[in-house]
Amino acid sequence: MKVLVNDEIIERNEAKVDIEDRGYQFGDGVYEVVNIYEGIPFTLNEHIARLYRSASEIGIKLSEQPAQLCNRLLELIKCNNMTNGGLYLQISRGVTNRTHQYEQTLTPQLVAYPLPYKSVQDAQAKGVEAITAEDMRWLRCDIKSLNLLYNILVKQKASEAGAFESILIRDGIVTEGSSSNIFIVKEGVLKTHPANNLILNGITRTKLLEIMDVNSWEYKLEPFQKEELMEADEVFLTSTTSEVMPIIKIDSVTFSGAQPGPFTRKFQTAFSEAVKAETKTTTEKA
Ligand code: PMP
Repeated sequence: MKVLVNDEIIERNEAKVDIEDRGYQFGDGVYEVVNIYEGIPFTLNEHIARLYRSASEIGIKLSEQPAQLCNRLLELIKCNNMTNGGLYLQISRGVTNRTHQYEQTLTPQLVAYPLPYKSVQDAQAKGVEAITAEDMRWLRCDIKSLNLLYNILVKQKASEAGAFESILIRDGIVTEGSSSNIFIVKEGVLKTHPANNLILNGITRTKLLEIMDVNSWEYKLEPFQKEELMEADEVFLTSTTSEVMPIIKIDSVTFSGAQPGPFTRKFQTAFSEAVKAETKTTTEKA
């Protein structure tokens, strides 16, 4: 496997992390995960724009232009002959003596590499289970930070309970999943938390809302209580790797007869059509 380290593509076993990298020591950095469909990175520009935004929000200045980084990633996909799978990329603040405070002169360190394809088709067809957990994260969840400690703890809790995801509740309000955005459908109307500092504004979430706009399907960007979640007709999550994933059970409550509901199905289909359209258009342009 070939990996990108700063501006060089090298063999995976030649890539080294400095023990004084702030990403390694403090989780001081930002990251993205991009899905690759038939060799085409889906919504690459949106992911790179979010990466630059996250970096800027924590004061990391990148010398490379987004378009240059996109080109390097396309080269990485090519070098690895990737068809389906993902790309992981992270940028840390840089390497320096370990102190909490940092000099502004550090050189950010970038690594990017392929993630293997994992089929979610079966789970998408049957739906998955979730548990609820308290949202105890910091108040800048809009930054896609390397610091995922609370997210991994609640994902682990879900996994140990035999569930796929933890749905996070802050002050009675459903914010998002440990690695996904959460949607409910009640009487045909979709609802999800507004994009503010309490959630990561998912690229999949944004894409789905664009699809909703194009089709004039009704939705509300409104905070909703845990009670509303538990009384919803349908619940689903979105993320780059899960796309549109039905949630058929939360804690001990089942939804739409423990099967993916009709609205969720409709959104799944519309989303996969958007993926096909975008990856096809990009191929034709290339
Ligand atoms: N929220 C959190 C906390 C996440 O980690 C993710 C996955 N990156 C998402 C939402 C979904 O974002 P996206 O659709 O961009 O993958």
